[in-house]
Amino acid sequence: MQFKPYWHDTTPPFTGAEPNPPEGHYDVAVIGGGFTGLSAALHLAKAGTRVAVFEAGHVGSGASGRNGGHLNNGLAHSYIAAKEHLGPERARALYKAFDISVDTVERIVREENIDCSFRRAGKLKLASKPAHFDSLARNFEAIHAEVDADTALLRRGDLVGEVGSNDFHGGMLSRKSAMMDMGRYVGGLATAAARHGAVIFEGTPVTEHKTDSGGHRIVTPRGSITADSVILATGAYTDAGFSYFRNRIIPVGSFIIATRPLTQAEIAATMPGNRTYVTSMNIGNYFRLAPDNRMIFGGRARFSATSDQRSDGKSGAILRANLVRLFPHLADVEIDYCWGGLVDMTQDRYPRAGFANGVWYSMGYSGHGAQMSTQMGIHLADAILGRGDRNPFAGLEWPAIPGYSGKPWFLPLVGLYYKFLDRVQ
Ligand SMILES: Cc1cc2nc3c(=O)[nH]c(=O)nc-3n(C[C@H](O)[C@H](O)[C@H](O)COP(=O)(O)OP(=O)(O)OC[C@H]3O[C@@H](n4cnc5c(N)ncnc54)[C@H](O)[C@@H]3O)c2cc1C
Repeated sequence: MQFKPYWHDTTPPFTGAEPNPPEGHYDVAVIGGGFTGLSAALHLAKAGTRVAVFEAGHVGSGASGRNGGHLNNGLAHSYIAAKEHLGPERARALYKAFDISVDTVERIVREENIDCSFRRAGKLKLASKPAHFDSLARNFEAIHAEVDADTALLRRGDLVGEVGSNDFHGGMLSRKSAMMDMGRYVGGLATAAARHGAVIFEGTPVTEHKTDSGGHRIVTPRGSITADSVILATGAYTDAGFSYFRNRIIPVGSFIIATRPLTQAEIAATMPGNRTYVTSMNIGNYFRLAPDNRMIFGGRARFSATSDQRSDGKSGAILRANLVRLFPHLADVEIDYCWGGLVDMTQDRYPRAGFANGVWYSMGYSGHGAQMSTQMGIHLADAILGRGDRNPFAGLEWPAIPGYSGKPWFLPLVGLYYKFLDRVQ
């Protein structure tokens, strides 16, 4: 078994990074080479802006190259709960914003010719308990009537051609949802941005950021530049140098295993619907087939703020047990990959974006960001280009979390709470 993301192992490395040290002046400096930063850089470069991207590791070394590969439309929250929390208009607008973001990814893949197996597979949210099916059905009724007619409610008997597990009591199908190869997409975004003129520095962490009347100074161990504007696109990997954001973003570990490629008979017995699948538990699981037919099976597994080989291995063992519980016929299947990554959570799980502390930012996608991060990169770029601010999260308050400065000491307690809810609900 390899302790590295399947996407990293199977994607050709990005070859367009700038070999020379950073120097000189740019219109925009982007910190972070994931979907948010690279999408912003692509959009800015296409508009003729001089843009530099600084990535501490390699492009996609953060969440963008470590995720489950689901491009789900609509809200991760219950739509009914979102209406109560945000009001009906805003909930509807945010639901649509996520739909648009999947369309945007599809458009970029087509325009930039990115070979990443994008496919409108549809997402099936599976009810793990009878009571979960009832609440899924209520949510479905509101969604289907008000925001997304491209959905269907599946009863237990309807699942036969969808998923080969006796564990589920029905589900909700969202046909607009998609899947793709995340490694090839993030590499393709970087290649497209560089082709349009963005300068991308890998292995170049920003260690200091200063602002004065003349603009911004971006300092790295390899050199420094000045810039008129800065985009902070560091997500869960935001470090102590950006404490305003560290005091608001909670990095939470999420973990994934990938099996060996399944045979056609195993696929027919396991995921005949070939969609993205998500279970309804608070500490639930998500799974799909990889382009080479492995099962990519993820979940929170443990409430940890660390992702390293030890932590990933512990979580991988829990995930394997969950996989076998759902699909006993895969009890002996080999696990070829195990990895983890950090999810950038906000307290209410809605992203935050805008301008604060002198920088443009978008983060806090809370595990539902593979599509929205691409969209938000474009919105940030447009705001800087003076093309209007279309940020769907504008106006959401974002107070610092009391007693918190970037180390989420409370995660084990949150884990216990969700375990309790999963037992009683
Ligand atoms: C295990 C896992 C599974 C997930 N599954 C899904 C899924 O199936 N569907 C979905 O929609 N979302 C999923 N997500 C969330 C999704 O991947 C993220 O929302 C999205 O990738 C965020 O992109 P980003 O560009 O904002 O951040 P990132 O991709 O995390 O990029 C931030 C980058 O900033 C860099 N950085 C940090 N500090 C500095 C610095 N000082 N200088 C230079 N560079 C710096 C980091 O190295 C990193 O590469 C998952 C996340 C994880 C971790």
